[in-house]
Amino acid sequence: MIRRRVSRPITIGSVTVGGAGRVIVQSMTKTDTRDVTATICQIQRLADCGCEIVRLAIPDMSAAKALREIRPNSPLPLIADIHFDHRLALAALEGGIDQVRFNPGNIRESDKIAEIVRAAKEQAIPLRIGINAGSLPHERHDKHDLAAAMTRTAIEQIRLIESLDFDLIEVSIKASDVLTTIEANRSIAEEMPYPLHIGVTEAGLPGAGSIYSAVGLGALLHLGIGDSIRVSLTTADPCEEVAAAYQILKSLNLSERGPRLISCPTCGRCEADGFYELARAVEDRLSVMSRPITVALMGCVVNGPGEARDADVGLACGKGRGVIFKKGEKVRTVMEAEFLNALIAEAETIS
Ligand code: SF4
Repeated sequence: MIRRRVSRPITIGSVTVGGAGRVIVQSMTKTDTRDVTATICQIQRLADCGCEIVRLAIPDMSAAKALREIRPNSPLPLIADIHFDHRLALAALEGGIDQVRFNPGNIRESDKIAEIVRAAKEQAIPLRIGINAGSLPHERHDKHDLAAAMTRTAIEQIRLIESLDFDLIEVSIKASDVLTTIEANRSIAEEMPYPLHIGVTEAGLPGAGSIYSAVGLGALLHLGIGDSIRVSLTTADPCEEVAAAYQILKSLNLSERGPRLISCPTCGRCEADGFYELARAVEDRLSVMSRPITVALMGCVVNGPGEARDADVGLACGKGRGVIFKKGEKVRTVMEAEFLNALIAEAETIS
């Protein structure tokens, strides 16, 4: 059982982040924000695959102005990601954005930060302080203890914002190094009451990137740290990030979204032809289901039945035929050609 850290909650659009509530899944659009149609399309796609909050890059004033059209057409709360120019944050706030994320590594003048805070305060819009290892101010960089340097920078920014009588704050401290990410977030979680958005930044391509993210985020979540998460993957489809995020949450019983597929790695005992293709097809068919059921797909009748019995629905494959179990009971024997449809049909009957 994970005991969640109770942070001070904030509201981003219609979504509450923090307060030991559910861990929220975020992603980021990969479109040019100035392309309003493509960006709205991708936000809708992200909503369809379970993303709950979306961040958009705001590289210039045209992108900031595009928010006026994007925000009313977005089904999800939006975060404007601002670098270098505080006026982009002001324009994003005017455009109805739900949160502004800025990086103190590149908006450094306190009077400009104060302008952002004043504008956010007028609308009660939360701010995210986003510290990234790669853009830490060089005088703050400490290669011997990067985690401590990032934490110190975050705390300085928090103190500055608090001194302006504003506390709708969220913090994210990210590094591509997993241990640095864990250490920095552990420290800030001990020192500050604010909700934490966590992620391993620039984690890599989906294979390795999902593993690095799972290790980093998994370690933090297991400590109860992390109010929202993003898995940052090099992929054209941000829904891959969302799917990976839910797998991480499900592995720790922190999400009940969608089925979990248990499938065996196969070995010399597997007599079912096309087992890998079958596993992929089962995963595909399950991906559109929203109920939190467990489905087991096992490659033989030696070790398969035990796991298949423990799942909500399971199939233990043998040579040419297999046995389907449901809620611990054997329900029928099916021929190989029916494996996929029969297993899915049984899964669909689980309420
Ligand atoms: Fe091998 Fe059977 Fe175990 Fe799959 S379930 S790994 S085929 S022993």
